Amino acid sequence: MLPAFEAILGQDAAIRKLRSILKNKRIPHALLFTGMDGVGKRTAAVTMAMACNCLSYAQKVQGEGNTADGTPASVGCPCGTCRFCVKIAEGVHPDVTIVEPENGTIKISQIRSLCDVLMLRPFECRMRVAIISDAHLMNPSAGNALLKTLEEPPAHTLLILTAQQTADLLPTIVSRCQHIRFNPISRAILSDILICQRGLGAEEASIISRLAGGSVSKAIGLKESWMHQRCWLMDELSRLHDSSLHIVLALSEKLSKNRDALPDVFEIMLSWFRDILVFSHDPDRVINQDALDGIREASGRYDSDQVYRSIRAVQMIQNHIQAKANVQLSLDHLLLSLKAFQQ
Ligand SMILES: [Zn+2]
Repeated sequence: MLPAFEAILGQDAAIRKLRSILKNKRIPHALLFTGMDGVGKRTAAVTMAMACNCLSYAQKVQGEGNTADGTPASVGCPCGTCRFCVKIAEGVHPDVTIVEPENGTIKISQIRSLCDVLMLRPFECRMRVAIISDAHLMNPSAGNALLKTLEEPPAHTLLILTAQQTADLLPTIVSRCQHIRFNPISRAILSDILICQRGLGAEEASIISRLAGGSVSKAIGLKESWMHQRCWLMDELSRLHDSSLHIVLALSEKLSKNRDALPDVFEIMLSWFRDILVFSHDPDRVINQDALDGIREASGRYDSDQVYRSIRAVQMIQNHIQAKANVQLSLDHLLLSLKAFQQ
């Protein structure tokens, strides 16, 4: 589906600002979109590039005899079907450049190439648009190279930077951009997206939307890989107190073999212990609603002090592994601690 402002759900305030920019014909040289991953920043940036160049605007505005500067005069919604909109949405329009990190960094060579392109007049569009995705991953020399372009922006150019937060960027870059914040997406909207666009059942969508922390991409990632692992791991956690040392260490070895999945493993563990804590006060607020029986049973085995100690143990090992501690040893320690807390 082609991106349009209507497709960016849950970002009404940000979209209102962008439409206002387009409507008032006050397109700045640089915009900065901040917000966590998966909240629509990049889709909004591509849609903005379309809105600035949509051919149907030009026709409409010409029809109204109001084409003084060629800027869209309508409410700021691209048609999504004209030649320019389609090419921009497909990422193949020569006047719209997207710069992305390579191996976790945006290098000075990438920014220099971009700046060279920006010096040229647009090939056929009204505005040349450059989207720097994850701009917080620019290394310092890349950031300084971009600063020169931001200080003396070429005409007919719009730069759109996306980043998680302004604090991750050079203040001199932030101060030269118009800042638009994208908020985490509400659980209700996330749940609707999962049900309507991804075909999930209501219960599964509810669980994932509670765990996705407001991010569509995280919710979709959870749907793809995580639900199966979640059921399996919660089952293992519920049986930990009865498991032999051999079984606990085998579980640790299995988990340690897939390092990429460890952030999800820790999140599942934390949601499990959180649910045990919450269950006795308000079962309706349990995240893993499909595992209520197991959570009820576990809540009878733990007192709140044991649950807090378990949560702290998970968070501590999570930090140790992020700090490059030995994964296998750390997981051995964690699972043996969790087993001990249950007894
Ligand atoms: Zn169009």
